[in-house]
Amino acid sequence: MAEQCIFCAIVNKLAPAAIVYEDEQVLAFKDNQPMAPVHVLIIPKTHYQSLNDIDDNQVEILGNLLLHAKTIAKQLNLADNGYRLMINTGKDGGQTVPHLHVHLLGGKPHLPVQVG
Ligand code: AMP
Ligand code: ZN
Repeated sequence: MAEQCIFCAIVNKLAPAAIVYEDEQVLAFKDNQPMAPVHVLIIPKTHYQSLNDIDDNQVEILGNLLLHAKTIAKQLNLADNGYRLMINTGKDGGQTVPHLHVHLLGGKPHLPVQVG
């Protein structure tokens, strides 16, 4: 757990969140400033600051996040109409929370191309 990290606080139930999925490795919860009718964040429970901190031998972390995003999208009835996944990385990428996360957006046409 990283001190001062809001997503680590959510993982450790020290901050509130509307959790939609949880297992040993992954947590998914609703974005509290949604940019679409469905806006969920999927995160590894382990703190990685961004995609830049995932090594070549940690491909399963990314695969796990993406496959969970797909499954959650299906559970939220987004599969047929589709959805958008986004990973903002660093300053120019618009990343505001330095804990790796995948945005899942859906529920309307013309989803935003930028979040954060
Ligand atoms: P990014 O700009 O890619 O780093 O995305 C961070 C996202 O986290 C933004 O969409 C915020 O609205 C969202 N966010 C920040 N704090 C919280 C929180 N406590 N609970 C839920 N979502 C949050
Ligand atoms: Zn963290």
